[in-house]
Formats: sequence, structure tokens, C-alpha cells
Amino acid sequence: MGTKIRVLPAEVADKIAAGEVIERPASVVKELMENSLDAGSRLITVEIEEGGKRRIAVMDEGEGMAKEDALLALRRHATSKISEEGDLATIRTLGFRGEALPSIAAVSRLSLITRTHDALSGTQVLVEGGQVKTVGEIGAPAGTRVEVMDLFYNLPARRKFLRGVRSELAHVIEAVTRMALVHSSVGFVLKHNNRVLFNLPPAQEGRSRIRAILGKEVVSRLLRIEGSTGFGEVRGWATVPTYCRGSAKGIYIYVNGRYIRDKLISHAVSEAYRRFIPARMYPVVVLSLSVPLSEVDVNCHPTKMEVRFRRGHEIHQLVCDTLKVALTSPVEQRGGEVSEIREELTPYAAPPAHPSDTELIPSPPWRMAGQIKGTYLVVEGDEGVMIFDHHAAHERILYERLKRSLHGERIAQQPFLIPQPVEVERAEKELLVEYRAELAAFGLELEEFGERAVVVTSIPAFLQGEDLFALLEALSAELSSRGEGESVAHVLDRICVFLSCRGAIKANRRLQEEEAQTLLSEWEALARPTTCPHGRPLCLQWSWREFEGWFRRG
Ligand code: ADP
Ligand code: MG
Repeated sequence: MGTKIRVLPAEVADKIAAGEVIERPASVVKELMENSLDAGSRLITVEIEEGGKRRIAVMDEGEGMAKEDALLALRRHATSKISEEGDLATIRTLGFRGEALPSIAAVSRLSLITRTHDALSGTQVLVEGGQVKTVGEIGAPAGTRVEVMDLFYNLPARRKFLRGVRSELAHVIEAVTRMALVHSSVGFVLKHNNRVLFNLPPAQEGRSRIRAILGKEVVSRLLRIEGSTGFGEVRGWATVPTYCRGSAKGIYIYVNGRYIRDKLISHAVSEAYRRFIPARMYPVVVLSLSVPLSEVDVNCHPTKMEVRFRRGHEIHQLVCDTLKVALTSPVEQRGGEVSEIREELTPYAAPPAHPSDTELIPSPPWRMAGQIKGTYLVVEGDEGVMIFDHHAAHERILYERLKRSLHGERIAQQPFLIPQPVEVERAEKELLVEYRAELAAFGLELEEFGERAVVVTSIPAFLQGEDLFALLEALSAELSSRGEGESVAHVLDRICVFLSCRGAIKANRRLQEEEAQTLLSEWEALARPTTCPHGRPLCLQWSWREFEGWFRRG
């Protein structure tokens, strides 16, 4: 009898391994840009078509490769960056696994053209699905150009999971942004379908690069951060506490020049801002940590996007303390203003447990007996009494209205006499434009406006007076968090929840009697829902019998 276990053929093994490193066009762009940086290029050009699904080309002016190296580069675990295990502890380059090129080549049609500065001619290697098809001599500028066509053409299941052009483009823009924000001395160009999206010349100073990418709105609110201990050094930029956003997407963390996602450092950032900004709001931070190579392990995740610190606690402390120092420096001390915002925005007070009395509930006409903590209406009716969370109730009312608008019911709109331009990030703009039709159904109408802005022509009336910039920013964060396999209907439902929360009467505001009455009758019209769209209870109710029973009356 033969054995049941087989060693997989190389092509199959390669495809599987590729899956760990290459998830989507943006991962190809990231890996190729890393190679270009490692090769010492001062200029990196990225060209993509159809969000990178059709074509991705990355060109550099780095050191290039000789013919033998070009062939070796395409073999798994072939790298010029480390040669023995010990080197892993001292990696200075962004790459070191020797996996990116072979992984990309295994799942695409790839052309590699490269020439070293002292060679007279260059080399071209064509690979299809991991098989080298041709190797030849070619005239080429010094440096390297890798072109990747039809990503996942031989993995249909994978290809099917790619998103629409705009979403994939948004990911690519994010990948270039992450890289370009911190490697400011290198020039970056990004083109999509021949349109230039980024043209970032090499910059002397981090701040001007940040300005070019994140816009002047952000840059005018940046504080410089700088600090060090025996275990490392942190420097970068962070926004003043009065500026904050509805998503954590503006927090960019780098360790030794490598963009990473790290819970520990993110936590240190929130910790530092905790006293200054409201819950669920986030600053913009570009934070570069330099730590001795022996203090950090970068070899713990296939995409190299996570690291492990030997002295996590100290690093946490360093980041948190450095930020706190910047935030409390005398120039920026704006305690009064900040605490005002905090009051106004504190989103919810957690409602108490819900007694289950369905027997008899108060019915109109209602009298408002008062308001507790500026947040809960105390309402009495002929049959009983209730305590009502006005924010949660209004949220539910707006949510139902938005849901109906998806089925054609028109929502009250507030058009702008002069359309309002709003500067957003490129990736955000792409997303907003992608969902333009859906947003219009909610009464939020916008148009693309140049490369990094939209003009808003109308908003739903209940959002009147909202800060458009903050609104669009939080909205696009919501859109971009669309999960794998999540349906459009589900995304739209989340948008309804989001907009209704945004537009609902804030907690901590005293309602006029008349406002309270309107709220109550709308609630009544909806057949008295008992939870807000997030599933939290919105009212507690008691019949008079129950209520008076407590006092041994009745
Ligand atoms: P790694 O970057 O982990 O070493 P890769 O598969 O990304 O692995 O690349 C393999 C090798 O190919 C690199 O070690 C480097 O020597 C060479 N190489 C890749 N891209 C370039 C480039 N743009 N310029 C010069 N050499 C490159
Ligand atoms: Mg690499």
C-alpha cells in the first residue's frame, strides 16, 4: 500500500505560500516598494491599472541586479539580505525572507527588467505562474522594473475575493501612503490608469511630506514629538488634542522604518490622549520608533506587519510619556476648550438593566416631569412612568427613517446654496465616490472634486450644522471597514446606524418640552421600539401599580 502523505509539487506549495504574503494588489505594491527602498532607490514609481487587478508596475533607480541574481531573486528563500540565522537578529533592510518575488511570480504573469549601474545592458526575465518562460538581454535604464499582470489569474477563487476597482485602489493608496509618510527623502509617484495620484518629490523634512499626503488641515495642527530612553527613541508628529477624528486610521506607527500594526503602541497612544479627547475619537499620529535591532523581532508574521518587542513595557511607557509631554506643553495647553468638547461628545451613558414589565406601559398624553443628568427624560402618563434616553430614542427614530429611504421614501434634505468643498484623503475620496449613489439615497449628495476633495451639494436635514470634514472622514472610515464577504446591504445598514448616531440629539443636552413631545410621538408612531440601533435599551417603564407598589400604596 502506498503512503497517504505526499510532498506537494513545488507549484502547489508555492501558490499556498504566496497566499500568506500576497493578499491583494496592495500587498504586491508594498513588497515591491520595499525591495526598491532596500535597493537604495531615491525615486519609486508605481503604476497600476484597474486597482492593480490588471497591471502593477514598480520602477526604481536602485542598485539593480546582474543576470544570475535576477534569476536567483525569483527562487524561494533566495535573498541577498541575510545569509545565516544570526543575521535575523540584526536586520536593517525591509525584506529578508526572500519570499516576495517568488510569491508574486507564482500567482501572476511577471516581467522583471533590471540593470546594475556598471552593466552595459540589462536582463529581462518573464515568468508565468512561477515558471520562468524566457530570460534575455535587454536595453534598460539602471535600476529595476517589476511588472505584474493579472494577479491571481491562476487562482480563480482568490481573484474572486478581490474587491471593486476603487476599493483595491484605496488599499494601494494606503500602502503607498504608509511608505511615503516616513521615507520622506525618497520620491514617490503613483499612477492609476495613467492618472497621477501622487507625485511626491524627495523632501528634506518629514513635515512637508506629511503635508503633501495628509493635507494642510492636519499639518497646521501637528505637534512635534521626541523622546528617548535606553531602549529606544521615538520621534514624529501628533495632532493637538482639539483636533480629532472618528477613526484610528490616521495613526501611523513605524518601527525602524517599517510600518507596523501594533496593539501595544496603539494602546500607548490612546492612553496618552485619553484625558484629552472624547471616547471613540482619535488623533492623527505619525510615530517612528527606533530601537536597537536586538530589542525587536520582526520575523513573527508573514507580511512583516507585526513585530515583537523584548521590552514591551518600557516601549509603551516611552511612547505614552513622550506624547503626554507634547500634549501638555504650555503652548498647546487648552484644557478648558478640550473639556467642553468632551462634555458635548460623550456619546452614551450605559443604560441600567431593564426590568421586564410588559404588563402596562404609560401611554399619551405625556407630561415631562423632568430630566436627569441632562440625558434621561422622566415622563409620566395616565398609566405609568418612564425614563427615556433621548439620544438613544432619537437615534432609533432616525435609523428607521434612513432605512425607509433605502426603499424609496424621500428623506428631508438640506441643499447647500454654495456647494461645500471638503478636503479628504485620496483613499477616502475614492470610497466616498464609490458609494455616491447609496449616500445620495440618504440625502447626502457629493461629487468628486479634483484629486483630494469632494464637493458636498446636500446633506440630510437632520445633519444640519455638522462639521462636514469630520462627518465625511468618519463615514469613509465606516465604509472602508467593509469586511471580507460583507454584503452591500449590510454595509448600508451600518451606515444607517452611523448616520443616525451622528444626527441624534446629543446626550448631555436639556430638551425643551416641545422637542421632548415630538420625540415621544415619533417613538409612539414606530410602535415603541425598546432598543437603539446598537441594541441598547432606550427606555425603562413602569405601570403606576408597580411604581406605587414600591411605596406600599395602591
Ligand atoms: P527579500 O526582499 O526578502 O530579500 P524578495 O523576494 O523580495 O526577498 O527579493 C529577493 C532578492 O532580490 C532581494 O534580496 C534582492 O537581492 C533582489 N531584489 C529584489 N528586488 C530588487 C530591486 N528592486 N532592486 C535590486 N534588487 C532587488
Ligand atoms: Mg523583498
